[in-house]
Amino acid sequence: MIAPNPNDPDRRTFLAVAGAGVLVSNIMAQKQAVPLAPPDKQPPDLKVPDPPKKPAGYAIVGLGQLALEQVMPAFAECKRSKPVALVSGHPDKAKKVAAAYGIDPKNVYDYQTYDKLADNPAVDAVYIILPNSMHAEYTLRGLKAGKHVLCEKPMAANVAECERMIDAAKEAKKKLMIAYRLRYEPFNMKAIELVRGGEIGKLKSITASHCQNTEAPNIRLSRELAGGPVGDVGIYCLNACRYLTGEEPTEVTAVAQQPKDDPRFKEVPESVTFTLRFPSGVIATCDCSFGTDESRRYRALGADGFLELDPSFPYHGLRLRVQKGGKISEYKLEEKNHFAGEMDHFSECVLDGKDPRTPGEEGLADVRVIAAIEEAWKIGKMVAVSK
Ligand code: NAD
Repeated sequence: MIAPNPNDPDRRTFLAVAGAGVLVSNIMAQKQAVPLAPPDKQPPDLKVPDPPKKPAGYAIVGLGQLALEQVMPAFAECKRSKPVALVSGHPDKAKKVAAAYGIDPKNVYDYQTYDKLADNPAVDAVYIILPNSMHAEYTLRGLKAGKHVLCEKPMAANVAECERMIDAAKEAKKKLMIAYRLRYEPFNMKAIELVRGGEIGKLKSITASHCQNTEAPNIRLSRELAGGPVGDVGIYCLNACRYLTGEEPTEVTAVAQQPKDDPRFKEVPESVTFTLRFPSGVIATCDCSFGTDESRRYRALGADGFLELDPSFPYHGLRLRVQKGGKISEYKLEEKNHFAGEMDHFSECVLDGKDPRTPGEEGLADVRVIAAIEEAWKIGKMVAVSK
């Protein structure tokens, strides 16, 4: 190759071109040197994130209105609960529900094959959503099959049945919880915190009302199925008075109205008004009815103000207000699905060994008061609540 003459003016051009060539080849070399795959870099102190916790598998027992309209859809909002089996007397309906919720058709049972749940390890718990008269039998059979039991309110038809259910759960070493959904949602929990925390001063009285128009035919209108307004809707008022005070009533009075001209109320009263006396001196007045327009509310009256939840018992739209010193303030809380909260709590009990917030004893306490209310309206006198 002929070396360029340094005096040649074209030499600069030559050098510039040659230099550019070197630059380009350097850049290309560099580009080729960029590693295309990441290095096998490992953090020195590896933290493995927790895997999602295993959900508890539920068998839903009874596919009526509550099960289909509220409980099954609520599983979508559950973190630790999954429907894995169904128990129904109607195979076609159960098949459709199983298909919609991805439940293996092998896991559909009826009331005769219910006990075979014992052989199904996918089922941790049964959720009993049957007429009240069937709660005790299906709880006892569920426990015998080795399952934990979540049972709808009212716990059972009478005190003796409730006691049998509690004893059987203890003997089987399984959890028993009564499905008081309002104890698993923010508005009623806040009301408990405020009233018990002294926000309205010393609590003096409570008024509560839970009324609706119940059309026939309905399990609620049947004595044989342990229907009636006190166990069905009045129980929300009674339970609220117990959770707001944190006390057990000692005495009750009650009056009932059973109109002869309305065939719906041949077996159960239309309306019952009852009063409860608590050890602290709090007096509660509650009314429940199957023959009026909707009323679902309570007000706790204290020495310095009052707390009102109106409505207090429906699935949605609860409103919590407190009046103090003539000023009303409203608590805006995030609404949560009551059934998802309740089932996930029970799943924690089943899987993590926690104790239910509303165990069988809670259901029994209400049923004891309901028995006293029934006696009070029958004999027309104040009745002591049995212990
Ligand atoms: P429903 O009548 O709609 O459903 C009852 C289910 O039981 C049906 O699937 C029916 O086929 C079945 N069943 C089996 N044997 C029966 C028999 N001999 N007679 C009648 N039905 C029989 O009632 P529901 O409103 O779904 O109420 C069921 C339970 O849930 C009751 O204990 C009720 O108190 C409770 N409940 C609770 C809430 C709540 O908010 N927690 C709301 C509604 C109902």
